[in-house]
Amino acid sequence: MASTRRHFLSGAAGLALGLGAIATDGLVEAKEEGTAMRRAMDGARDRLVYSTLFTAQNVNALLKDDADRQRALAFCRDIGISKVYIESFRGEYAREELLVAARDFYRKQGLAVSGCVTTVSFGKKSTGWNLISCYTNGDTQAKLEEIFRFTARLFDEIMIDDFLFTDCECEECQAARGGRSWEEYRLALMLDVSEKRILEPSHQVNPRCKVIIKYPQWYDNFHNRGYGVDTETAAFDRIWVGTETRNPTAERWGAKQQYEAYFIYRWLSGIGGPKTGGGWFDTYDCSPEVYVEQAYQTVLAGAPEVFLFNYGDISREANRPLMDRLKAAQPQLAKLAQVASIKPLRGVAAYKPVNSHPDGEDYIFDYIGMLGIPLVPTHRFPGQAKSAFLSMHALKDRELPVKLAAYLKRGGNAIITSNLAKRLASEPALSDVPGLAAADQPTLSSTPWAGTLVVLPAKPPFTSLYQLPQEELNRVRNAVVLPAAGVQMNAPPRVALYVFGNRELVVENFADEPADVELRWGSGEQGRARITLAPHTVRQVRR
Ligand SMILES: [Zn+2]
Repeated sequence: MASTRRHFLSGAAGLALGLGAIATDGLVEAKEEGTAMRRAMDGARDRLVYSTLFTAQNVNALLKDDADRQRALAFCRDIGISKVYIESFRGEYAREELLVAARDFYRKQGLAVSGCVTTVSFGKKSTGWNLISCYTNGDTQAKLEEIFRFTARLFDEIMIDDFLFTDCECEECQAARGGRSWEEYRLALMLDVSEKRILEPSHQVNPRCKVIIKYPQWYDNFHNRGYGVDTETAAFDRIWVGTETRNPTAERWGAKQQYEAYFIYRWLSGIGGPKTGGGWFDTYDCSPEVYVEQAYQTVLAGAPEVFLFNYGDISREANRPLMDRLKAAQPQLAKLAQVASIKPLRGVAAYKPVNSHPDGEDYIFDYIGMLGIPLVPTHRFPGQAKSAFLSMHALKDRELPVKLAAYLKRGGNAIITSNLAKRLASEPALSDVPGLAAADQPTLSSTPWAGTLVVLPAKPPFTSLYQLPQEELNRVRNAVVLPAAGVQMNAPPRVALYVFGNRELVVENFADEPADVELRWGSGEQGRARITLAPHTVRQVRR
């Protein structure tokens, strides 16, 4: 929860990049592009869209007149921002004449312009976090509808910042909940309110209006507060993904690992498909390095638009080093955006069912990605994948034991957490699998069938996984990555790997130290690359 707090309060740097798209270490051979490759690149967007938000407070304070609007325009042009969202409500309304003036001015200047609403501090207060509302309450619902009727009159697209949830346990909510769990009640309530008080009125006022639900980055908590990513994604016109991981050592934001942004974007875009519009991150507690890592993750995950929250923050002098670093990274980000669109995405399928409970393994996917295991996030059981990662989340799937047995029989390889192994050990469907025992060390076992099973001890804090000796990590990683992606990596933890199509590899060093990385996809020098990655840098390698 704390991880979203500063969003609201917000009113109140050249890389040693190897900027070329192809590593030029001499060990990596630049080969002629094949036809398939060229077709994929032609189909890719040649340009990423950068956007920002004028919060309602920004509109009232920083867009008061033409000089203000010109100043903001110059800033946007400097950063390459070609789309702006102009917010009508965030606990208070922006003045209508300022909204209209800004909308018309930026449209005339050739920028794309959309609206935005942040559903905080209106109606009846939640018994939980005081910015949040009680959505059972009729007055809250009426005010919500009023905000969207007002906004849809002005804009053809409305972004909703990630406060469209509730943690209220008032008597009114308890009575309405009846015998249901809070999870069931809130999922039903927020869908109903979204349909009746947001979508229907917005579409009625302006039939062209598209409404975007932006999901926060706290994916393992969605179900508790009413974010139903299957039902809401089906209901809304578009979705957006919070990729605001911030500083990985900042406890107040949950010490989010950088890979989380990639994981959540890929997972939600697997649910949203073409409805998925982009990623969104901010500046809080960020060094220039970790700020720009959010951009790398957003772009590698396939986002066509990078939303920089918000104008008031990013234009602040203190944040100039962040923006300078972003500008220096933009040529590489454009190239990575093309690479990221190449299909198929290869790697180890990572199964998080919709509304699944972490059961003590909160956000473990992020740590697995940080180990250099390229994940292919999915909300469906990956029955056809060559390798899969399974955690406690998978228990949401009642048929998991039977599906996993069939998967291993077919020759699929699985890497599972020790907690899940313990849970599955007594399942009749898996009684022939010898490896399902608690382990203190990563354990590789062959199953009676074709597939290999790896049990990975997982005890919080999961940063302890980064203590695995590199040899051990290589062994675990290669057991699942080689069959799935045709590549082996020798690298320390905190170096992530991404595999796109048949030829494109990307490696990223999230650590504060340089990392020696060896990639191997064939025999001899032709089939490998050796790279030293500077701290917090990304490199593309073509095999
Ligand atoms: Zn309530």
